[in-house]
Amino acid sequence: MNQPSPTTQQADVLIIGGGLAGLALGIELAPFCKVVIIERYSYPMHRVCGEYVSLESWPYLKELSVPLSDLGLPIINQLRMSSAGGATMNSKLPLGGFGISRYLLDDLLQQCFTALGGILHTNTTVTNIIQEVDNSFSVTTSEGNWQAKLVAGAWGKRSQMDKVVGRNYSESGYAKNFVGVKYHVTADLPKNGIELHTFDGGYAGISKVEGTTENTYCLCYLTKAENLQKHGGIAGMEEAVLFKNKRLAQYLTQFPKLWDKPETIAQITFKPKPLIENGIFTLGDAAGMITPLCGNGMSMALHGAAILAPVLYQILQSPQEKEALTNKYISNWKAAFSLRLSAGRILQNAVLNDSLNSGAFRLLQGLPFLKQPVIRLTHGKPYHSLMPKLG
Ligand SMILES: Cc1cc2nc3c(=O)[nH]c(=O)nc-3n(C[C@H](O)[C@H](O)[C@H](O)COP(=O)(O)OP(=O)(O)OC[C@H]3O[C@@H](n4cnc5c(N)ncnc54)[C@H](O)[C@@H]3O)c2cc1C
Repeated sequence: MNQPSPTTQQADVLIIGGGLAGLALGIELAPFCKVVIIERYSYPMHRVCGEYVSLESWPYLKELSVPLSDLGLPIINQLRMSSAGGATMNSKLPLGGFGISRYLLDDLLQQCFTALGGILHTNTTVTNIIQEVDNSFSVTTSEGNWQAKLVAGAWGKRSQMDKVVGRNYSESGYAKNFVGVKYHVTADLPKNGIELHTFDGGYAGISKVEGTTENTYCLCYLTKAENLQKHGGIAGMEEAVLFKNKRLAQYLTQFPKLWDKPETIAQITFKPKPLIENGIFTLGDAAGMITPLCGNGMSMALHGAAILAPVLYQILQSPQEKEALTNKYISNWKAAFSLRLSAGRILQNAVLNDSLNSGAFRLLQGLPFLKQPVIRLTHGKPYHSLMPKLG
């Protein structure tokens, strides 16, 4: 076993990544043990995300002490879709969602975590991790070393941690190459609506968020990377591909953009991933990413934390039950998310095909009773913290 150096710091639980999954898990555990979150960037920060949060997460976020009711956030309950071929579909959303920027939401969560005494190291990257023979973990970061009893991997959709644990994105068949692009724009659209507009090899969403102007909207799209390669960059691709959908052409050219350049992320994969990697409990996108079409990835990241927190708490109390509790995490996670993940992949494949999606929109518009069950398949029900109540 590696001998910890005198400067090695100790933690009960070390969480890699301070996005929604990592921060929610940290908030859940901070009252009970020494929790450390290592985050490679600093808050507040923008991230590629459509910023529509399913209302299933509202009660949980309030339990985590996020003051949602005080923020005057837009409540979103109408869906409007269009294809490049001109087909349209409208629907009421069965549960609906709310709009909030990641700039604000992640920052509020990190404040809740540190207020509980959680230890947050920003601008710090985890570069290696070794499980020792006594099952503890030696964690190397850009700013020093940690020894932890348990480690949770909440490093998101794309990180050098994937390589550290042996996930090889360059293996053929594993990399499903998608690119995400996000703008904040000033728009004049209904505040209670989310719009999804498809184009060949991708789709874009637009919905209201709080922001720097009264009418700030998040305009975010996902595209096959080949669109970008073929057209030599974002501007060329938007003109050649996205503008074929008339609504997108209008929005991208006429709505004033609030940043000099968009947020982008590359090499996104929707393939299933192992939940436990070298003894690390993964959650959020690191455990499996739902297609953004479903608008449910943030809720899955938060709900994953709600499922994992009591498991880690119980392992700290009774380490001899680690194997059984690990299996409990795997089965509870699958029960909560497997169907959603599969439904999301199937729907995305249909939407990415320009000739298929126009037909599908027309079919659904003509058979209104089918729309809500299809939307429900990709969403969950409201959930709550499962941790013991203090006081
Ligand atoms: C185009 C697009 C649109 C989307 N739209 C929506 C939507 O409208 N609604 C919705 O619910 N979901 C949406 N999603 C999905 C949603 O963004 C994710 O599911 C959610 O962010 C997952 O949260 P997370 O905590 O797992 O990961 P993240 O929020 O990505 O957080 C991971 C964190 O880990 C950190 N990190 C990574 N590696 C290291 C390291 N080695 N050391 C230290 N820190 C590290 C990162 O800096 C990051 O802060 C969308 C996704 C995309 C790509």
